[in-house]
Amino acid sequence: MNLTFYPGPSKLYPQVGRYLTDAYESGLLSMNHRSTAFMEMLSRAIADLRIKLEIPEEYEVYLTSSATECWEIIAQSLVSTHSLHLYNGAFGQKWFDYTRKLRPASQGLTFGLNELPDLESSPDLAAPEVLCLTHNETSNGTALPDQMLHRIRGRYPGIIAVDATSSMGGIALPWLAADAWYASVQKCFGLPPGLGVMVVSPRAIDHAERLGDRKHYNSLLFLRENFLTNQTPYTPNSLGIYLLGRVMQDVLPITHLNTLLNERASELADFLVRHNYRLLVENPQVRSATVLAIQAEAGKVRSIKQEALAQGIILGNGYGPWKDTTLRIANFPALTEQDFSKLKLFLGSRS
Ligand SMILES: *Cc1c(COP(=O)(O)O)cnc(C)c1O
Repeated sequence: MNLTFYPGPSKLYPQVGRYLTDAYESGLLSMNHRSTAFMEMLSRAIADLRIKLEIPEEYEVYLTSSATECWEIIAQSLVSTHSLHLYNGAFGQKWFDYTRKLRPASQGLTFGLNELPDLESSPDLAAPEVLCLTHNETSNGTALPDQMLHRIRGRYPGIIAVDATSSMGGIALPWLAADAWYASVQKCFGLPPGLGVMVVSPRAIDHAERLGDRKHYNSLLFLRENFLTNQTPYTPNSLGIYLLGRVMQDVLPITHLNTLLNERASELADFLVRHNYRLLVENPQVRSATVLAIQAEAGKVRSIKQEALAQGIILGNGYGPWKDTTLRIANFPALTEQDFSKLKLFLGSRS
């Protein structure tokens, strides 16, 4: 099997192989999702996730099928008039595009790759109902620092929603700085795709209740009613939930993982610069710890990827506008120190 540094779907935790068999043998995969055994499994998986990710007690956790689904849940159930999207990459842009289809008055505001969103020159921050931010922009390897999220929280009175798809499960998130966080599990959770995690504040729930959207199978209030009694609105991805539960028992608490990933990211960035690679994101303040993007001309990017593959290493393609001129390296918890030694050996030898 090749060693993949793709930033999603990404390398799985190695024990997932064993857990797949365990899942089959447990009988849970054929069980009615209204049965006690299934409900207990669901409840335990969420309880362990809450502990390991250090989610505040008053925040609620629901499972969905993907981050993309969460884009629509937020647009349907938390935005009645318009949201404001601050973004600098392809995933933030996609979220804005999906929201605009449902809520045409929504606005978008872009900012530069090496910059933070400029709150001073933003349109009236009091106006939008929901402010939408991308914590970790997987397409270009940028991230919003905690202190920026806290500053925004201090200035903006409405609901804040954050896409943390490629950071949740690896980076310690400042939960209290926002109201609706979400991710899918094929990035930092080291799990196969097909499951999303949504973490919601009491403020967001109050807001959803005021709006009262119950028109959709995945309306936030309907999701909530189901999860409060360990139910799901539809027959769920029971294998995904089983694997999530098992892996959440294994992983280190998020503060440990956070330290580990941050150290590994800065070592890798130093290594790359020393070996004459160019990082796409020059400002270390806004550089992601979980997705590193290397910039080079298209021909060089192609040959690096090809040579890597010949050695059994898969590097991530660029994404969106950076498709041909960058390659991306995931720094997710399921990747080991050994994996990074192998990567560095390769990158060092060809620079
Ligand atoms: C991968 C990703 C998504 C999409 O996730 P799906 O599971 O395909 O819905 C959304 N936002 C970000 C930041 C991502 O990295």
